[in-house]
Amino acid sequence: MPADTTARSRSSAPRAHGAGFVLDVRSLGRAPGSMRELRRTVITTERLGLDLVGVPVGAEVELDLRMQSVSEGVLVTGTFDAPVTGECSRCLEQFTDTVQLSLTELFAYPDSATDQTADDDEVYRMRDDLIDLEPLVVDQLGLELPLQPLCSPDCQGLCPECGVRMAIAGSDHGHEILDPRWAGLAKFAPGSPGSGSPDKGAATGNHPTDTARNSTEEN
Ligand SMILES: [Zn+2]
Ligand SMILES: [Zn+2]
Repeated sequence: MPADTTARSRSSAPRAHGAGFVLDVRSLGRAPGSMRELRRTVITTERLGLDLVGVPVGAEVELDLRMQSVSEGVLVTGTFDAPVTGECSRCLEQFTDTVQLSLTELFAYPDSATDQTADDDEVYRMRDDLIDLEPLVVDQLGLELPLQPLCSPDCQGLCPECGVRMAIAGSDHGHEILDPRWAGLAKFAPGSPGSGSPDKGAATGNHPTDTARNSTEEN
């Protein structure tokens, strides 16, 4: 029984106190025009974003927000800044970047006309005196982040013949298109695996790690 209590309080306590992406607006009051500003750094506990690019777990998200009481709810405006990690859709390399969202959204009071007349997916809603920004952030990231992210705008991608990254292969990289009837003979050509390489012995000389180990033993 104690274990059960611990598990439940761990998942619900931060939300009740307005931590993470949850804003506690009790002190704002309901007088229209009442306003509060809030800056907060949130450490993400789950990945947010799309399959190929998103805000990773443990990222520092900077929230700079203004919460304003209006007749139907609380209007949240401000910015969301976060690092993103992704996989380039052309060359498959990992890359890092940042994303900024500009947020302007009404969170309707539970008993407001907006709450009662709008469909579930038409408006974000407050629960008690709490605003959970996470659904809004997830929706906005889905619109802002690219479906086909690139490591750089001019990424050259992969060689269609051999799959090497063009960024490391160089601009003169290319392949002779062999007649398929002769392709089987290519393995006998000089330089192919098994034909022997003159610089094979060079790699087995004095290894840097051997030197490092010897010097620590002398101490
Ligand atoms: Zn790339
Ligand atoms: Zn190639």
